[in-house]
Amino acid sequence: MRIEEEVKLDYADVLLRPKRSTLSSRKDVNLERKFSFYHSNKVWQGVPIMTANMATCGTFEMAKVLSKYKMITTFHKYYTKDDYLEFFKNFNDPDYIVYTLGIRDEDIIKLKEMISSNLINNFSFICIDVPNGYLERFLDAIKLVRELCKNHIIIAGNVVTNEMTEEIILAGADIVKVGIGPGSACTTRRMAGVGYPQLSAVIECSDAAHGISNGKGGYGLTIADGGQQYPSCVAKAFCAGADFNLFGSMFSGFDESAGEIVERDGKKYKEYFGSSSNKALIDFYGKKSDYRASEGRYVLMPYKGPIDIFIQDLFGSLRSTGTYIGARRLKEFPRRATFIKVNRQLTTYLEKYDEEK
Ligand code: 5GP
Repeated sequence: MRIEEEVKLDYADVLLRPKRSTLSSRKDVNLERKFSFYHSNKVWQGVPIMTANMATCGTFEMAKVLSKYKMITTFHKYYTKDDYLEFFKNFNDPDYIVYTLGIRDEDIIKLKEMISSNLINNFSFICIDVPNGYLERFLDAIKLVRELCKNHIIIAGNVVTNEMTEEIILAGADIVKVGIGPGSACTTRRMAGVGYPQLSAVIECSDAAHGISNGKGGYGLTIADGGQQYPSCVAKAFCAGADFNLFGSMFSGFDESAGEIVERDGKKYKEYFGSSSNKALIDFYGKKSDYRASEGRYVLMPYKGPIDIFIQDLFGSLRSTGTYIGARRLKEFPRRATFIKVNRQLTTYLEKYDEEK
C-alpha cells in the first residue's frame, strides 16, 4: 500500500489571480475555438461547451437551442434509431451533436445499425462513455469504433490520470473525457471511495493529452466532465487546460431539459438524476441488478425557465474571467492563468437573503 502525499485540488480550492490586461471591454473576449484532431481529419469550430449525455439534459430540445450558440449537445443513450430518423427530418447541424454509446454488445450492434442506415453521418462526434475507463475492454471498444468510424471525432472516457489519457488517444480517441466522482449527482466517492479532485485531474490529463501530436497540427484533447457548480468552475477548467467543458446539473431544470415540472409547496421543480441512480437503472434497463449499488442521486432541481438567460450569463462570466486575467481568446486562458490555493472561495452569509436567486 502506498500513499501519495501531494494534495490534489478541486475547483473550490483555488481562485484566479487577476493580471494586468490590455482588453478594454468584456466584448473583446472571443469564446470560440478551432480544433484539429489527432485521428480525425475534421476541423471543428465553436464554443467548446457541451451537455452531459444524461437523460435530463442530452436532449433533442437542448440541441435545437445550443446549436444556435455553436455549443454541443451530447445525446443520452436511450434515443432509438427511429427517434433519430424523426429528429433529423428537421435538424441538420452535425458539428454540434454527439452520438453516445457504451461498450455493451447491444451498444455496438446499435452503432452498426446507425452506420448501415447512414444515420451516423449526421453526427461529427461519437462518445464512448463508461463510468470506469480503466477496463481493458474499454480500450478494445475504442479500437473497434475507430475502425468502424474512421473520420469521426471520437470522445472516450472517463479517466483521471495521465497514463490512461495517453492510452485512450493512442487506441483511437481524439478527445479524452476527464472526471471520476466529481459529478453533482454522483455518489461514487461515497459508495466506492474512488475519485480524483477534478482540477488536478484536468491539469494532469490535459498536459498528457496535449503532449501527443500527429505532426500535422492535430493533438490529443480533453473534456472536463462534471463538478462545475458555478460558471467560474467552467472558467477554471479552461484555465486548467481543458479544451472542452461538459456538465449536467447546470444544464438541468430548464424548459429544454427532459422531465416533468413538479410542484411542491407552490414552488416548481424539474428532476435531475445520475445515470447510475436507481431511477435511471429502473427506467431505462428495467431493473437494478442485485450485484451492484446505485452510484447516483435523484434530485428535484428548482425550475429555471428557458435556457437562453443561463447561456448569456455563462458567456458573460467567461468573458469576465478573460478580462480579469488578460486573455483575449479562450485559447489563451491556460497561458494567462495563475491559480491561488485558498482556504475559502466564497463569501456566502447573505446568500439566503438573495432576492434574485
Ligand atoms: P455535474 O455537471 O452534474 O456535476 O456532473 C455531470 C457528470 O456526472 C456527467 O457528465 C457524468 O460524468 C457524471 N455522472 C452522471 N450520472 C452519474 C451517476 O449516476 N454516477 C456517477 N458516478 N457519475 C455520474
